[in-house]
Amino acid sequence: MAKLLEVKNLRKYFPIRKGIFRRTVGHVKAVDGISFDVERGETLGLVGESGCGKTTASRCLLKLITPTAGNFTFGDEQVDLAKLTSQQMRPFRRRIQMIFQDPQSSLNPRMTVANIISEPLRVNRTVTRNELQDKIVELLESVGLTPQDMRRYPHAFSGGQRQRIGIARALALQPELIVADEPVSALDVSVQAQILNLLAELREKFQLSYIFIAHDLSVVRHISDRVAVMYLGKIVEISDAEKLYQTPQHPYTEALISAVPIPAPKEQRKRELVPLEGDVPDPSQPPAGCHFHPRCSYATDICKTETPELREITPGVKVACHLSETLELKGV
Ligand code: SF4
Repeated sequence: MAKLLEVKNLRKYFPIRKGIFRRTVGHVKAVDGISFDVERGETLGLVGESGCGKTTASRCLLKLITPTAGNFTFGDEQVDLAKLTSQQMRPFRRRIQMIFQDPQSSLNPRMTVANIISEPLRVNRTVTRNELQDKIVELLESVGLTPQDMRRYPHAFSGGQRQRIGIARALALQPELIVADEPVSALDVSVQAQILNLLAELREKFQLSYIFIAHDLSVVRHISDRVAVMYLGKIVEISDAEKLYQTPQHPYTEALISAVPIPAPKEQRKRELVPLEGDVPDPSQPPAGCHFHPRCSYATDICKTETPELREITPGVKVACHLSETLELKGV
């Protein structure tokens, strides 16, 4: 597969200001030098607890917030994200679309579905007035809604249907990459599966690539080809999805996998759980050395002083842990 997106050294530091002169006294390193790529037709899952930086990273990619540093190559075009102006970002916004977590708040309640879906088409003038109606019908049908739905307002739909409207809007400009930020977290479990299936179908139909953000590894498992695990602004493991679940290489990944319930009660009882203790530390004062060491049951002295680099330990598997070669971690 050909590479669609390559992100290098993406950083987003938020200043901490204090005093009457609002002097900068430090930084919250929400995203601290992450690099990854996405191939055409591929889904990359981006996973971690809330506050790990995954949503900030995705917003930096679309320049919804300005990153402190970082480059990306999209197709053949290489850009310095920190210096890119809104005008220069415009062509990329057509090619990269976003689906948001809460369909309720991301849809304007005063607009009909037709207006919501057609807004990007009208703004970008990609279809004529005569073609617009047909395009709206086509988009609605592609996400499992009916042409009659176009005259209704978002409040008349269930959560799952509202997310379908959000997906139809994201598809309107025929993007190549969709960044889906926790697209099923606000939905009932039964509806989650329907939306995940829809996203998988659309990926095949339109040869889309996804960056699929979730706090829960179980959600990304079936849709992702590869998964990147983030902790306190850094990627700690990135690997082929099945490998990551079966043979995790980072203790944090192991703990996240352990927290995923298995539907079979017998199997679940047999399982040795690896509890994830404590909360994510204050990102303005991350622990020295490996940021995960206060919560890691395998930590040794080196972990408290030296920051492990993300390095490739086998082809396609990168991990940031001093002990990855010696640990035998549990997967599913
Ligand atoms: Fe745990 Fe040490 Fe590996 Fe960090 S480097 S994950 S503290 S074993």
